[in-house]
Amino acid sequence: THHAHDANCIFCKIVAKQIPSKAVYEDEHVYAFHDINPWAPVHFLLIPKAHIPSMAHITAEHGTLMAHMMALVPQLALKEGCNPYPEGGYRLVTNTGSEGGQEVHHLHFHIMGGSRPWLKG
Ligand code: 5GP
Ligand code: ZN
Repeated sequence: THHAHDANCIFCKIVAKQIPSKAVYEDEHVYAFHDINPWAPVHFLLIPKAHIPSMAHITAEHGTLMAHMMALVPQLALKEGCNPYPEGGYRLVTNTGSEGGQEVHHLHFHIMGGSRPWLKG
């Protein structure tokens, strides 16, 4: 299945540079950029350039793309200032659908680190 760009999708507009963003990484297939409303000292999003609406749309045919994205996560996390494993680290989060808290329906992985805002104390 091919996913064309969606003219009404905010992340497709970010990929097309129609909306400005602060780049972390870019190649032919993916783009990473800072979240506009960070809730951790390091918070960026990694997205496919193709308009895949959510994790619910992923099948085995996306294997190469998914492997590429997952291999980028540890590299980009360190590049953006997440501290090394295991004392440091980060959260990798993908909200999926309404009950998953997804607001932007273009697949994205949140990478959040630099402190532990999700833990008490
Ligand atoms: P989710 O769909 O997983 O709930 O979260 C969408 C995320 O995209 C949010 O963390 C939100 O701050 C971020 N976001 C929404 N619109 C923009 C935008 O125009 N630019 C950037 N950089 N981030 C955005
Ligand atoms: Zn899109």
